[in-house]
Amino acid sequence: MAVSRERADRIARATACPRCREYTWKRVRLRDAGPGDRHVGAAWSVELTCGVCDAHVQLAIDDDGDVVYLG
Ligand SMILES: [Zn+2]
Repeated sequence: MAVSRERADRIARATACPRCREYTWKRVRLRDAGPGDRHVGAAWSVELTCGVCDAHVQLAIDDDGDVVYLG
């Protein structure tokens, strides 16, 4: 895998909450993106919970370390 778990974690935490634009995540859950994931080509699938507005955010990271989905 081109992007390590550590790096994926850093990328996820460096992404602003799409709702309140803060970077304070109280929960970050990473897992390998599988064939059942809707984001084709993603290496990591991340679930984040915002520590400010409590939004639940889904994020996908590809093999280049780019965020290919945020919602
Ligand atoms: Zn937020």
